[in-house]
Amino acid sequence: MLTRLFHAHGLLVASHPWEVIVGTVTLTICMMSMNMFTGNDQICGWNFDCPKTDEQILSSDIIILTITRCIAIIYIYFQFQNLRQLGSKYILGKCVQWFSFNSPYFSTHLTTFTCTGKSDEALPFFLLLIDLSKACALAKFALSSSSQEEVRDNIARGMAVLGPTFTLDALVECLVIGVGTMSGVRQLEIMCGFGCMSVLANYFVFMTFFPACVSLVLELSRESQEGHPIWQLHHFSKALEEEDNKPNPVTQRVKMIMSLGLVMVHAHSRWIAEPQSVNNTAGLPRVAMELSHLSPRRIDPEMPLWHFYLTRMVTMDIEQVICLALALLLAIKYIFFEKVETESTLSIKSPLSTSTTARRATTDSCCRKVPPITGLVTTAPASTQESVTKGDWLSELRPLASVLQLGPGFLSDAEVMLLVSSKHIPAYKLEMALERPERGVSIRRQMISSKLACPSALSSLPYAHYDYSKVMGTCCENVIGYMPVPVGVAGPLHLDGKQFQVPLATTEGCLVASTNRGCRAIALSGGARSCILGDSMTRGPLVRLPSACQAAEVKAWLESTDGFQVVKEAFDSSSRFARLQKLLVALAGRNLYIRFHSQTGDAMGMNMISKGTEQALSQLQQHFPDLQVVALSGNFCTDKKPAAVNWIEGRGKSAVCEATIPARVVREVLKTSTQALVEVNINKNLVGSAMAGSIGGFNAHAANLVTAIYIACGQDPAQSVGSSNCITLMEASGPSGDDLYISCTMPSIELGTVGGGTNLPPQQACLQMLGVQGPCSDCPGENARQLARLVCATVLAGELSLMSALAAGHLVKSHMTHNRSKVDLQSPGTCTQNSS
Ligand code: NAP
Repeated sequence: MLTRLFHAHGLLVASHPWEVIVGTVTLTICMMSMNMFTGNDQICGWNFDCPKTDEQILSSDIIILTITRCIAIIYIYFQFQNLRQLGSKYILGKCVQWFSFNSPYFSTHLTTFTCTGKSDEALPFFLLLIDLSKACALAKFALSSSSQEEVRDNIARGMAVLGPTFTLDALVECLVIGVGTMSGVRQLEIMCGFGCMSVLANYFVFMTFFPACVSLVLELSRESQEGHPIWQLHHFSKALEEEDNKPNPVTQRVKMIMSLGLVMVHAHSRWIAEPQSVNNTAGLPRVAMELSHLSPRRIDPEMPLWHFYLTRMVTMDIEQVICLALALLLAIKYIFFEKVETESTLSIKSPLSTSTTARRATTDSCCRKVPPITGLVTTAPASTQESVTKGDWLSELRPLASVLQLGPGFLSDAEVMLLVSSKHIPAYKLEMALERPERGVSIRRQMISSKLACPSALSSLPYAHYDYSKVMGTCCENVIGYMPVPVGVAGPLHLDGKQFQVPLATTEGCLVASTNRGCRAIALSGGARSCILGDSMTRGPLVRLPSACQAAEVKAWLESTDGFQVVKEAFDSSSRFARLQKLLVALAGRNLYIRFHSQTGDAMGMNMISKGTEQALSQLQQHFPDLQVVALSGNFCTDKKPAAVNWIEGRGKSAVCEATIPARVVREVLKTSTQALVEVNINKNLVGSAMAGSIGGFNAHAANLVTAIYIACGQDPAQSVGSSNCITLMEASGPSGDDLYISCTMPSIELGTVGGGTNLPPQQACLQMLGVQGPCSDCPGENARQLARLVCATVLAGELSLMSALAAGHLVKSHMTHNRSKVDLQSPGTCTQNSS
């Protein structure tokens, strides 16, 4: 209930920052502009040195007051030092803001009491009662947001967490300090009165002005960053909520009992025991009563403002000089020497801001337990992109013990590296451990740069502005960036009555231009036609039995209808899409190679089918307890290696594509003749490949197109090995025998439109170009099959064009034009440090 109330209050304040700030400031100005009482019947202007009461101040009081002031100054100094340890200058700024507003605000109250001439004496109380950590904690809640709505929610959440504790603390402090107002010692009573007001002023500002200010500042700074969040400290905020600020129930109860007791003490001493002595108890009530009975007379300022302050400065008391000197001394230490000290004792600075080396870290007294940081960059950053990392706001490296206490958002890059080197963060988990994966990638780059033969090598490998969340746990580990590959387009490719623009990612000049020419020839010929011949991915585990005869027994069982059915049931239960179609079993001694053929929907299916195979094998082991699974893949699959089994049996999608190119198109577009093409095809693609002992390589360059499409469309590029199996056939056709009939048969196109690299946005864009991105909801598997047809047709276009260039003798000429490097390869590279 209480929490909800504070939550609602926090939300209200954070949602209406302007109203709250303007309201509070107005109130403060009103109070400040109120006439200032001198303690007798006079009112003085704000720059008037008001006459003081004639009260005698003992020299012992002066000594005590001077000591109190010094303690207060030192206390504030330590509060700021603690904040610096926390690391965020931003949070520090927030707290200063809170502090510096509190100061004049409370001063207005104090000035009200200037009549007693005690404002100087009250200041130490005010300082001693300030607790910056609470303001800091609330700021941290706000800073953990990534949008303005979240800022409001988080401030409300922070208020719900901190509000009740702070309220209770303020109450207890007030009551405890209030006891002093009943002491009968006038000096103490007045001081305690100031103390109570200080607590109340602090509380008021914390509950209103401060959260409003934080909300507004964050909103404005976010706007200036084009809506991007500056801070993402979710971890910190959560940890804070869960650990630091959970009020300890025992303490809370003690505080409540204490407050109740104190309330009773106050009530008894003020209203029951000595109702008549209220006036004598001085402190707050008495001062208030004195004030209420005053009928002041205004005294206008006589001297100009500068004169007033100058006179005051010149006529300082000895205790004021002591306090000022102490404050100045600490301020100078804080601003200048602490930084220097940190630099000299807390080891290295961020590699981004300095070239300080890792060697310093190992000799560092504060980091003695930390192993040497071998990965820190010792030269200029690898890339200018690195210099804009989040950790830049903190330049010093804090001790490991402190670093371990903090959330990743509060650590500089150098500190994160320290944690990696000291094995507190596994290097491979950097993306997950940090608040943004991109920062993890950036830090990994910095860590490896110094180990490279050319430390600036990564400067040209981009890493920024990439959605690594899609990569993590799916596509790549130990990421240091991404490889941009040029993507060209060939088309329109007329296939089965539709037109396609085919994306090709390649660095081979000529390839796209050549394929484009093939597409034009097909288009002018009325288009190509394609068919899917088979659709089954394969996995071929190796199992072993005690004897060859037992292996033969298992083979026979697997080939029986009952055996197959048992295995199929286990296999199919592993996925919504994997459906076992057949088993091809080969035997070698007591080794058994079982080739599982399965449909895999729109997925390429290797993970899917591996999972199914594993389940099927455990079922098989139940029937044949002597059966030992040697390897889930026995190379009978066969994945990513040239193998006749794929060529003969097929793997993935088996497709065929054909087209008839009229003689005129052959002549005008392909610049050759049907006869020349047919002849080159027979003698190169068939006889030539047979001479080379090729398996599945009866084509000119199917792998070029397969790989270019695979890279563009997020396929596993290593599967271009089997997927490029292709036989290209050419015949003369038509009434005159001058037209060209061409076909490409590809029995093992291993691809998919879901899973693996197809989940990455740029790759998805290329799949979308072809209209096959993602799963096909109407008919699972149809998108993948359509992609296979497109691959086959693009190969056909590529074959047409390259074979024509060969037949016409243009190959070298066009490669010299489109594929020859224009850069002087003899000139030294940008990195001259490569000595190896
Ligand atoms: P996957 O992402 O591992 O599995 C496909 C997932 O998509 C399954 O969870 C499947 O559901 C789901 N799905 C949703 N709709 C679907 C649909 N219409 N058709 C098919 N599945 C659909 O992808 P994968 O193709 O099996 O594996 C591809 C990855 O394997 C690639 O990264 C590749 O590089 C890698 N690979 C692995 C091996 C290996 O030996 N494991 C070998 C080569 C390559 P269900 O859960 O119901 O099945």
